[in-house]
Amino acid sequence: MSTINFGIDLGTTNSLIARFNRGQVEVFKNPIGFKETLPSVVAFRNDRIMVGDTARVYAEKDAKSVVSRFKRKMGTSETFKIKSVNGSKTPTELSAFVLKELKNFVQSGEQVDAACITIPASFDTLQSNATKEAGKLAGFKHVLLLQEPIAASLAYANRTGAQDLRNSQWIVYDFGGGTFDVALVKIVEGELTVVDHEGDNYLGGTDFDALIVEKLIVPALERRGRFDDLLAQLRSESGRYSSLYPVLLQKAEEAKMELSAKSSAEIDLGMVRNLEDDDGKSLDALISITRSEYEGLIKEAVDGTAVMLKKILTRNSLQPADLKFVLMVGGTTYTPFVRKRIEELLGIPVNTDIDPTNAIAVGAAFFSATREIAGDAQSSAAPTARSLKLRVNYNRNSQDDEEAFNAKAEGNLAGLFYRIQRDDGAFDSGLKALTSRISEDLPLRAGAYNVFSFKVVDGQGTAIPCGVDTIQIAQGRYSVAGQMLPEDLSLVKDDVAKNDTRLECVFTRNTVLPAKAKRTVEVAKSILKGSTDEIRIIIVEGSAEHHSSTNKPLGVLRITGSQLSKDLLRGTEVDLSFTMSESRDLTVSAYLNGTGQEFSQVFDPKARSVPVAILSTELMQLEELIQQEQETAQDNQKPQLVAELDKLLEQTQALMSQASKLASDDVTDDRFKLEDRKRQVAQSVFQMTSTKRLDAGRKAYRESRKLAAELVQKHGNDRDRHRLADVVNAEAAFIESTNPERIEAAVSELEALRYSILIRLPDFQIAMFERLMSDQPSMNDPVQARQLIEAGKSHLRQERWQDLAQVVGRLLDLLPDRERTVEEIRLHTGIM
Ligand code: ADP
Ligand code: MG
Repeated sequence: MSTINFGIDLGTTNSLIARFNRGQVEVFKNPIGFKETLPSVVAFRNDRIMVGDTARVYAEKDAKSVVSRFKRKMGTSETFKIKSVNGSKTPTELSAFVLKELKNFVQSGEQVDAACITIPASFDTLQSNATKEAGKLAGFKHVLLLQEPIAASLAYANRTGAQDLRNSQWIVYDFGGGTFDVALVKIVEGELTVVDHEGDNYLGGTDFDALIVEKLIVPALERRGRFDDLLAQLRSESGRYSSLYPVLLQKAEEAKMELSAKSSAEIDLGMVRNLEDDDGKSLDALISITRSEYEGLIKEAVDGTAVMLKKILTRNSLQPADLKFVLMVGGTTYTPFVRKRIEELLGIPVNTDIDPTNAIAVGAAFFSATREIAGDAQSSAAPTARSLKLRVNYNRNSQDDEEAFNAKAEGNLAGLFYRIQRDDGAFDSGLKALTSRISEDLPLRAGAYNVFSFKVVDGQGTAIPCGVDTIQIAQGRYSVAGQMLPEDLSLVKDDVAKNDTRLECVFTRNTVLPAKAKRTVEVAKSILKGSTDEIRIIIVEGSAEHHSSTNKPLGVLRITGSQLSKDLLRGTEVDLSFTMSESRDLTVSAYLNGTGQEFSQVFDPKARSVPVAILSTELMQLEELIQQEQETAQDNQKPQLVAELDKLLEQTQALMSQASKLASDDVTDDRFKLEDRKRQVAQSVFQMTSTKRLDAGRKAYRESRKLAAELVQKHGNDRDRHRLADVVNAEAAFIESTNPERIEAAVSELEALRYSILIRLPDFQIAMFERLMSDQPSMNDPVQARQLIEAGKSHLRQERWQDLAQVVGRLLDLLPDRERTVEEIRLHTGIM
């Protein structure tokens, strides 16, 4: 087999494994218990590791040695403490245990070392990388990632009896246990593409379980006994009732599922243990919940999902009638209220044709069958007396009634024959001489998987292994155009004009992977060979239109003085190239034109961590920013803006109070939720204040353009003229733009241009040098400053302007930050 064939849904709550085989997908069952789903739960009992239902049950005995819902923390540096082993495990390690257990579902003895694993469409790069890493840890040699909405669509589209989807579009509404994803999917010429998506990595059925505990169970218990903040005592790791919390969640989930079929459900906590309050009084442990009580609890969240769906419609100028249906997947969509409410709010028919629990795994298996295992041809060709290598080329999905099959053969081909036969006997190529290039038109059965056998034999009819034994082509089925990037990936650069940083987009959201890009930047600060100074190539993920503070850090390539073969001078160009693989491995390489050196780095799945203390500080900074903006708006008599900022201020303060309540060892996802919301508020502030920035930006642009044009005319060279023309020619596009960042970027480019000309001019250098001489006493390294000034004086006497420019540059680097003015900026990244 040269295709991957196994598909895995590595879910927050449940995981499944399926296999594609000759046109059919089989979902494997757990050999213990015969269920398709494996709860994504891991338990540690001394040296034994249990995964799935047994782990779930064990939680009632020793909750502190059982972990679940770790998918939400993939790609973060959070670890899970495990009492029984007296240590902790990362989300990646825990996922690997689940994957290994899934391998056990396959009892045929077949090697399971390649698989397509699904991820939510909203997973960012770190989260994706961590998922792949988990696959590798579980012993998979090849791991391919697939976004869940695509998997769900494949499961539906490849199903018999599916509606004709050609040239249509629909929404995939995936509401699982831990994540919510909504995606707009389209088929263009037989290829499935995700056009747009929205999602919340922190919303799922488990939140509903938590709501039941918080809003129904806890109040019921507090009515029956005396507790000192029962919820806090449940949720904090060191709380008095912390081991009861997972048990309550589990009971809440069972009741919730019952409510999908019945109008009320009973929770009997007495089955679990003797319930006592703080005073040791035994409590009545039977709690009953009605469906309408439950619907009241989740209404806000469900309506929130409809808002995300509407956002997609608006963004893509679509009316409900333009969409074929809303395809429902994920266990939470079993809830009748969810189906009803979405249909009611959107006016689009809801499609519940596929099994919401296994659809993702089924789709992943379909996809895996269209992908070859990289490098498989060599490895699977068993060594033979006559070594034969075959490279094949054909489309695995076809809309035609015939498909061309081509192959190149290498090795000693003399006296060899090949034969291709369709499995239903309707096609037989007969024995043909094997030449270095063969080509065959294969007739296809409509709407089906067509399986052909491929054989090479010698003159005696003995089969010769060639690494290819079947050719599989799906006729009239759909394939996937490619994986897309969920958010912009940008490079952080110093913004000379604003004493700040700005973003330069490298890959835009929805770019189909794999992708490549190149950028050229300039070194903003001289880095001396052997020094500890560095330049930082920082990559962030989020909206490139916004400030870097609203983006998530992805990785950094550092180049320090100690790595340099020569000094790296201010203004030197650095050529950057970026590649991102289909499975989201980002590689960045930097070529330093000044030294001729090349640095390269694959961004490892380095985790994002959100310590509670840092979160609180960031929230305080955000509060301050909003208050400043409010003052400005007040001064400019913009009462409406003041009121809108007021709302954001309130939200920020609410987040601050929530953050202050978080214990530093909080075990819930709250800090990630808070961090997500903080980023959203920051984005809103930047958007709201954009009018003010637009006005200021346009004015600054006009001034900068005038100054730069004068300077280029007097002293510019060809390169400067080109740089100026590049900005001015693009003027129409950004000057009327509603995004201040774009205008500010132009201003900063002009200022950088102006500075690069000025620094070449003797008059400017002399003036700068003289000013710097008077600044000498306050410089960071007075000894070095004095030496530089002596050298500068001598360059000045001998009119060695280039050398003087170097001295000026190095003196600028010695200035304390607060003293730097427009040209003498504090540098964040060292590139501009
Ligand atoms: P994930 O993709 O996060 O692994 P699933 O798609 O398997 O999750 O969905 C699991 C979620 O669905 C859980 O929160 C579970 O409680 C919920 N769920 C499963 N069955 C039902 C049901 N019959 N009614 C309501 N919710 C359900
Ligand atoms: Mg799921």
